[in-house]
Amino acid sequence: MKRRDDIRNIAIIAHVDHGKTTLVDGMLKQSGIFHAKQEVEERVMDSNDLEKERGITILAKNTAIKYKDTKINIVDTPGHADFGGEVERILKMVDGVLLIVDAFEGPMPQTKFVLTKALELDLTPIVVINKVDRPDSRPQVVEDMVLDLFIELGASEEQIEFPVVYASALEGFAKTDLDEDSDNLEPLFKSVIEHIPAPYGEIEAPFQMIVTTIEYNDYVGRMAIGKVNRGEVKRGEKVAVCKQDESIEYKNITKIFTYQGLGKEEVESAKMGDIIALAGTEDINIGETIADAENPEALPFITIEEPTVT
Ligand code: GDP
Repeated sequence: MKRRDDIRNIAIIAHVDHGKTTLVDGMLKQSGIFHAKQEVEERVMDSNDLEKERGITILAKNTAIKYKDTKINIVDTPGHADFGGEVERILKMVDGVLLIVDAFEGPMPQTKFVLTKALELDLTPIVVINKVDRPDSRPQVVEDMVLDLFIELGASEEQIEFPVVYASALEGFAKTDLDEDSDNLEPLFKSVIEHIPAPYGEIEAPFQMIVTTIEYNDYVGRMAIGKVNRGEVKRGEKVAVCKQDESIEYKNITKIFTYQGLGKEEVESAKMGDIIALAGTEDINIGETIADAENPEALPFITIEEPTVT
């Protein structure tokens, strides 16, 4: 078993309007991954009207930033109980979560379900109390509210000791002590590197990845997104697709992408801990496993619950 110290995989849990988009924008800008030409044209994880209506987020898009020598993969989470199967699949890609909470409003009930799942899956939380620039902000009160919520949701002793980062996503600063001065988000990056465990697993083992989401691209078609659970995958390699009905299909991986900024970058290979997009597996479905052709071992299939609008 090895640790990928060059990677951190995190999910963001936030109530609509608490500042997720602004914070991820800020992290992208300050991580130096943006080149002059690469503008943030469309807001990073912008919510659609349905989300706004329900006070939740239903999209899951991946972003990656680089801090010093570490790549931080950020996955967005759907924030609603109705998407149960999806929440679990997404959270299984990460080792920690950033819970973004508005420094005036405090935690909102809509984020409870995802937070409960994250705590159950033993993920490491970092609480980001955002909008501390606002004159009406009350970060200490909100911090106590978050602590009460963690206790109510059955957080473990370690989880209750969550690190707190006070931030203004809008002004692009973060700090771990309210009395500190800060003009950048570096304390947030540092907290992620320090507190969120690096992916841990087998690298010298047959390749295995469960498909978390599917993305479409005009040039490469249907792509399978997931985190490499173990081993390594190379472009051009033959793999086994373990279908839900337990049959096996053999495919060739035509392209491998990792995430970079808001986009993707093509790579030759990827290994345990990487969050990737694979092309070549065509009609593969969410929940199925892509595995080494000689060791086609499926990971447990996570059932997808149909969203029921309440
Ligand atoms: P999301 O729905 O969680 O993605 O929230 P947004 O990032 O879209 O932010 C919602 C609103 O809060 C926008 O009007 C932002 O400009 C504002 N906002 C976000 N972060 C901050 C902050 O740190 N301070 C202040 N004052 N406003 C913020």
